[in-house]
Amino acid sequence: MEQHIIYLDNNATTPMHEDVIEAVHEAHILYGNASSMHGLGRASAQAIEQSRQAIASLIDCSAKEVVFTSGASEANNTVFSIIREQIDLGSKRNRIITTTIEHPSIIETVKYLKSRGYKIDECPVDSTGRVDLATFKRLLGEDVALVSVMTGNNEIGTIQPIEEITELSHAVGALVHTDATQAIGKIEVSMRKMGVDYLSLSGHKFYGPKGIGVLAVKTKAPFTPLVHGGHQEGGRRAGTYNTASIVGIGVAAKLAKADLQAEHDRLWSLREMLRKGIEERIPNVVVNGNQQHCLPGTLDVSFPHAEGESILLYLDMEGIMVSTGSACASGSLEPSYVLLASGVDIELAHGSIRFSFGRYNTADDVAYVLEKLPPIIKRLREMSTR
Ligand code: PMP
Repeated sequence: MEQHIIYLDNNATTPMHEDVIEAVHEAHILYGNASSMHGLGRASAQAIEQSRQAIASLIDCSAKEVVFTSGASEANNTVFSIIREQIDLGSKRNRIITTTIEHPSIIETVKYLKSRGYKIDECPVDSTGRVDLATFKRLLGEDVALVSVMTGNNEIGTIQPIEEITELSHAVGALVHTDATQAIGKIEVSMRKMGVDYLSLSGHKFYGPKGIGVLAVKTKAPFTPLVHGGHQEGGRRAGTYNTASIVGIGVAAKLAKADLQAEHDRLWSLREMLRKGIEERIPNVVVNGNQQHCLPGTLDVSFPHAEGESILLYLDMEGIMVSTGSACASGSLEPSYVLLASGVDIELAHGSIRFSFGRYNTADDVAYVLEKLPPIIKRLREMSTR
């Protein structure tokens, strides 16, 4: 009998929606280079512009502010490279502020830039992973070029007060970037309301294709391309258009917008069902992250005296796919840097599991996890020497 798969790793990536698969498949007839002036080229360009409109409508910005990239990692790297250029050109604003719990595509960029002598402050977060605005205010100053804070965290789901952060940052003249990759399709993401200058997102986190993303850039914000070459994207990102994936992310954006409120409520109720069920059935558990400001589908739980990786593997044997920490950081047995930065005890950080819900999960999935998880934790705790 084929094993039933319960996929609870939607923050790592989502499957493509069937409408996206169909649209991507059909878009392969659009093989003309979108930069070509003939009919086939124009057909591709038109499909790309429709997708650009759909993205702009989803994140509440103007279509000309949308730059297609290969994903959120590239979008994030582009922002830091723009600011690096500004600093290299002698701007008196030569400091960047970010946080300790950003995605590795920012954490590693920060490490690299620091090693090259750039001044970067990583604002600490509170025990729930939220930026403390009083601490943040103390870090701000007239020398700050960029503030980069993610909208919602991929591991613990904590949502940051981006509007307040933008207001404070703009008051001292700093530009603001938010990595909204995990928030898209789960909570309202409005570039206009948040007031940010740059925003990153990625197709594969909201049922679109992998390898396609967006950097949205306010018209007046500085820009230097990361990828130099042809004149695509108004000279902001070179390279022949990935037409099929761009069509796919556009369809995903339309679906995300249409279903936003319903998906938000459904994901939150599944997440709460699992949280309550775990708390009722398993003693001594700690729920990580901010319970008030939290992405609806994310539940991160620590199980003291049980190793995260062991829990993951036992769940995997039951067909339940989860994650410890972020997928990008796993592959090592290091505890989650996000939890450590939130002041979580190292042992608790080692025993954490992230359940992340998506469009295709149901209450039956929660019931199945609640049947399989308690005996696994019990067994692992019995095996533990502590
Ligand atoms: N930022 C966040 C918050 C993410 O969760 C991810 C994906 N794990 C990325 C950036 C990177 O996105 P991509 O895979 O499109 O490069």
